[in-house]
Amino acid sequence: MITMKADPAVQRTLLTLAAVDKELTQLAHRRRTLPEIAQLVEAEVAVRTAKDKLVEVETSAGDLDRDIRRIERDVEGVRARTERDRTLLAGSGVGAKQATDLQHELETLQRRQSVLEDEQLEIMEQREAVGADVEHSQAALAAAEQAVTDLTQRRDTAFADIDAAEAGRVRDRAATVAGIPAEVVAVYEKRRAKGGAGAALLLARRCQACRLELDRSALGELRAAPADEIVHCTECGVILVRSTESGL
Ligand SMILES: [Zn+2]
Repeated sequence: MITMKADPAVQRTLLTLAAVDKELTQLAHRRRTLPEIAQLVEAEVAVRTAKDKLVEVETSAGDLDRDIRRIERDVEGVRARTERDRTLLAGSGVGAKQATDLQHELETLQRRQSVLEDEQLEIMEQREAVGADVEHSQAALAAAEQAVTDLTQRRDTAFADIDAAEAGRVRDRAATVAGIPAEVVAVYEKRRAKGGAGAALLLARRCQACRLELDRSALGELRAAPADEIVHCTECGVILVRSTESGL
């Protein structure tokens, strides 16, 4: 590995850069894993389910309304026919044979009306129950849609918070990078591209990136390295920044 020199103060700035990058990583993670994202998917499924249910009960209500109108027409027809027969029967010039036929038909019409009225009552009851279902389904759909609205608002508020925090960290990062020589930043970025931190403090003989305690020979090399030399963790490769608390 080529030896890279950097003033100890510049090396410490790498820790600031690493802290900013850690925050940026956390913000990106927070954006991806916002609970509202998964909750919204569920809430949208609930809206679709509620819509389907509403269509179903509204269709039932429509079918029953059609049945009700049909029975009303039938009842009306039976009433008109009954009225006509009674008028004929009450009138003069009705022969005995015709009178018997009319009486017979009036009895049939009476039974027919009775059947129709029973049917009408039953369908009215069904329609009432379905009407209540329609109201429940409308309320359920409204609640589901409200949940989507609320969650969308909460998600967007969270996104806006993350955007603002990110913009702040991006500015901090630019300001920090401006104070570090480009070739040192390049070493830092190269390490970071492999995943994890680019730089970490050596604290009490432990690399603060991989949390491992360095062995005696590694510590000996670090102790021997000049303060302005950039050194790396023998365990994880991160740029190790030494301080008075490094335990060297
Ligand atoms: Zn390490």
